[in-house]
Amino acid sequence: MKRIGILTSGGDASGMNAAIRSIARSAISAGLEAYGINYGFAGLVAGNIRRLESKDMDGIIDRGGTILYSARFPEFAEEKTQLKGIEQLKKFGIDALVVIGGDGSYHGAERLTQHGFNSIGVPGTIDNDIPGTDFTVGFDTAVNVALDALDRINDTATSHQRTFVVEVMGRGAGDIALWAGIAADADAIVIPEREYDVKKIAEHLKHNYENGKDHGLIVLAEGVMSAADFKAELDQYGDFDSRAITLGHIQRGGRPTAKDRVLASMFGDYAVRLLLEGKGGLAIGIRDNKLVATDIIDTLENHKHITDVSLLDLNDRLRF
Ligand code: ATP
Repeated sequence: MKRIGILTSGGDASGMNAAIRSIARSAISAGLEAYGINYGFAGLVAGNIRRLESKDMDGIIDRGGTILYSARFPEFAEEKTQLKGIEQLKKFGIDALVVIGGDGSYHGAERLTQHGFNSIGVPGTIDNDIPGTDFTVGFDTAVNVALDALDRINDTATSHQRTFVVEVMGRGAGDIALWAGIAADADAIVIPEREYDVKKIAEHLKHNYENGKDHGLIVLAEGVMSAADFKAELDQYGDFDSRAITLGHIQRGGRPTAKDRVLASMFGDYAVRLLLEGKGGLAIGIRDNKLVATDIIDTLENHKHITDVSLLDLNDRLRF
């Protein structure tokens, strides 16, 4: 093996650059060449590919976003488009591909593997919703960005004795809501993985106010409903002087935390070491604090990300 390709795809996540740097530098230090593919699978099919030198990796570990850009390219679900991508990889003499992205991007890597092109997935998404790993690159930064916002909201909520409904990202997974919500002392965390009872939440808020608490905070995962809709439901059960906020894309940006930088560095280097051992068709992850590599097809077809809903019970015990 001589050349490794790298691409980032789907929603960007802080720490993707640290993963690119790790893959490129690890490959170069092992005597291989690294190639960056711009704009995800769209750039792959278009042949938007360039050689990456070690010096190109200077000063990127602390930058959010991705220097290789990202793209949504639904056409890559078609076989003929996937085969075009493989043609481009062969044209550039690339022997293996590392895809940094979320669940959808993993399916792209899986399809290339099924066509016989060696591909490895590195989990990069703020949602933490990929099977085969306890944590994804970008999740920790997103949680900390959300937490910073929640701390600020708690300040103003307290000053005016208001209740805020704050919608955080997470279409199918409540991980960001759970982690940021517990850390911000939320009165309720509402996630897609568990039924909620708005009447009970309202009663809990009322009880808190009656017992001297000076504000309310509900952290809501976007996959449940919008903050505005949840506020409307809540308002039917009392006058909480409530406000609805959607944090939105600020959760995607910003300097990656140390945890995301280190995780990305470990994942990227591990992917290269596995390729050097002649392995491939794998999904990289961390489980119980150990690096793991699982078959990418089996991981996607037979496993699901499992949100740790025991965190919801933890929050319920701690809010009284
Ligand atoms: P995030 O969840 O953080 O947004 P993601 O990787 O899941 O990241 P998607 O938009 O779902 O984001 O997928 C990214 C890209 O992966 C798609 O635009 C497409 O190019 C490719 N992709 C998605 N699903 C498939 C599939 N079934 N087969 C081949 N390629 C796919």
